[in-house]
Amino acid sequence: MNRLLPISSERDILPQYRGTPIGLLLEYHNLNRKHEQYSSAQLLIGMCMDNRKHLHIPDNFAFIIRTGGANLRYSEFKVSYAIAVGNVRSIALVGHNQCGMVNLVDRKEQFIRGLVERAGWEPRAAEEHFHQYAPMFEIGNEIDFILSEVVRLRLRYPRVLIAPLLYRLDDNRLYLIKEET
Ligand SMILES: [Zn+2]
Repeated sequence: MNRLLPISSERDILPQYRGTPIGLLLEYHNLNRKHEQYSSAQLLIGMCMDNRKHLHIPDNFAFIIRTGGANLRYSEFKVSYAIAVGNVRSIALVGHNQCGMVNLVDRKEQFIRGLVERAGWEPRAAEEHFHQYAPMFEIGNEIDFILSEVVRLRLRYPRVLIAPLLYRLDDNRLYLIKEET
């Protein structure tokens, strides 16, 4: 896990993020920074829909888009809206370990059985549904996926500051993901 940069003090925050909404997110969540009052969102956070995560941030501080695997490829209009109308200039993309969108094929049978038993689907329809969407939502590896999504988002929104982060379920803390320079 040496691809992660622990944030235990303000000095650990990379210079390009210090004093920005991304630095503030790290200070609020990891360093117990006192919550300021906000009347508008400062930041867009993209994070996984997984239930095991809770961010400690002030009211009104951030827009949050939650999707499987923090995958924003199919949420682009909402990202654009947060920037264009919501006036945010920064995006924190937050992956997490043990993400359910990794290796979806391992849960194919469970997925089909669950839809049949709990939602009343026909087995064939459930299987087709899995095959149609699993390739779109599979992320492969949490850290690599976040890094590649950050590269894609930076090309798409070149004036926006975008940072790759990981939430570790083991300690409920945020880490910056190291990028190759
Ligand atoms: Zn997840």
